[in-house]
Amino acid sequence: MARRKLVYEGKAKILYEGPEPGTLVQYFKDDATAFNAEKKDVIDGKGALNNILSEFFMKGLNTLGVPTHFIKRLNMREQLIREVEIVPLEVIVRNYAAGTLAKRLGLEEGTALPRPIVEFCLKDDALGDPLVAEEHILAFNWASQQDLDDMFVLAHRVNDFLSGVMYGVGIRVADFKIEIGRVYDGDFSHLVIADEISPDSCRLWDLKTGEKLDKDVFRRNLGSLTDAYAEVARRLGVLPKIAVPISKPTLIN
Ligand code: 5GP
Repeated sequence: MARRKLVYEGKAKILYEGPEPGTLVQYFKDDATAFNAEKKDVIDGKGALNNILSEFFMKGLNTLGVPTHFIKRLNMREQLIREVEIVPLEVIVRNYAAGTLAKRLGLEEGTALPRPIVEFCLKDDALGDPLVAEEHILAFNWASQQDLDDMFVLAHRVNDFLSGVMYGVGIRVADFKIEIGRVYDGDFSHLVIADEISPDSCRLWDLKTGEKLDKDVFRRNLGSLTDAYAEVARRLGVLPKIAVPISKPTLIN
């Protein structure tokens, strides 16, 4: 492989300079982290599954006219993306109580929320990505009022798409996190969905059994993470035939 210039290395992905100006190559690692990287592991096959699942969701959003940074998947581990300026906020959408919302408000996990709730967290590992209000966002100029309006619209459109697609394969989207990027076109800029959409950043529950098919499997030691992610990919019809180790035994005739 030709040597490429590393642009940024995060907990689950690496960004390299892309082939054209304004593009990057996003490499999905097998590293899994939780609780602000206090729990860590390397899980064979996770990167390939997230690459393929994020491709599936981003392509679907692009097709529906919800702009994303995704251009095309290059191979099992990498995708070509547009270079964006990341807005320093995590946008969380919740349909059912879980995680930090359940804890903060004393709600039982799985309680249906009266309507989808959009939250913003400041992207700051040292502070543990604290929840912030619109007032903080505007006062500290992390985003403008127009950006906030656009982020709400994007968040709801992603939620409708994800919830609908997953409902079709028997999976409930309890909540998810997205990141937003700014793309410049001359004097103008607009916001797009960036980073990844995968079981690493969503809570996905089987509609019938409630089985968890997301990173909570790793966070709570509930079994094989790749089996859970592979099940999501299988139901969506994008499970790669090679290169993803699945732990379940298969029958040999
Ligand atoms: P919570 O605030 O309950 O921990 O997370 C809400 C949702 O956002 C969950 O689906 C969770 O996976 C996702 N999420 C929150 N923070 C992060 C993060 O820093 N990284 C990733 N990958 N997902 C996150």
